[in-house]
Amino acid sequence: MKQVAGVIGHPIAHSLSPVIMNAAIGAVGLDWVFLAFDVANGDGTAAIDAMRTLGLIGLSVTMPHKQAVIPALDRLTPDAQVLGAVNCVYRDGTSLVGDNTDGAGLIRSLDEHEGLSVSGRRCAVLGAGGAARSVIRALAAHGSAVVCVVNRSADRAESAALLAGDVGRVGTAADLPAMDLIINATSLGMAGVAPGELAVDPDLIGSHHVVVDLVYHPIETPLLIAATQRGARCISGVGMLVGQACLAFERWSGAAAPMADMVAAAEAAIAAGA
Ligand code: NDP
Repeated sequence: MKQVAGVIGHPIAHSLSPVIMNAAIGAVGLDWVFLAFDVANGDGTAAIDAMRTLGLIGLSVTMPHKQAVIPALDRLTPDAQVLGAVNCVYRDGTSLVGDNTDGAGLIRSLDEHEGLSVSGRRCAVLGAGGAARSVIRALAAHGSAVVCVVNRSADRAESAALLAGDVGRVGTAADLPAMDLIINATSLGMAGVAPGELAVDPDLIGSHHVVVDLVYHPIETPLLIAATQRGARCISGVGMLVGQACLAFERWSGAAAPMADMVAAAEAAIAAGA
């Protein structure tokens, strides 16, 4: 019997998850289909109940349901517990388990797609929202030497830096030249958000930097364009998007995720204006 997996969110029409997941399903040859479900704000727990009733094999969870689904789940992984947010639901026997794989997804894509280990690296994270928090925890868990959090709101920076334990601290723009990686986890650079405003003064970026932008719409953000001009190595947010999808796909199927096929599908869809 065909198995069904999906993503819940609102709005969801422009989600790239179906493109990425159906590329993986096709490449591996599973008799599955992956669908996007538009679930209204406030209906996250009902969607989890429906997953149980309908026997869906897995669910990705995006805004605005990442916190709201938690009461309907049987248990959380330690990452989801600490971060208080779920982006992937999988089955463990009769239990539904909530995980948070955004940060681990970034590490996975850097390792597998970019050949880049964060171990021993000095990392600056710009931003302290949901994506930043997941990345901060993952960087520390994978051996980064420093995780320096630079954010507009100081209180949120403090609480996010704690997620990196001993290697975490709050920083300012003046810290950036001494870093190896600069990761933009603010919303700046997304199409339509504060046009013209960059998350960092590009003159602080040099050719020794790797600059990662979590924003993937557009793929070439103003920050990445400016960083390229200054000789930095630049990595787009498609990697993290696909990395977390790989982890979800593997949880659900037990098969190795075909990352290159998934990246190609995401990039083609974005190029086609998805
Ligand atoms: P949140 O709303 O949780 O956090 C937004 C962050 O951006 C906060 O740190 C906020 O600062 C900062 N920010 C917003 N506007 C400004 C501004 N004008 N000037 C300075 N800082 C600003 O969002 P998320 O963490 O969920 O998402 C952040 C970005 O990451 C989005 O662009 C999203 O598309 C991307 N993302 C990418 C993913 C991927 O797979 N590639 C996955 C998830 C997210 P403050 O705390 O001061 O408000």
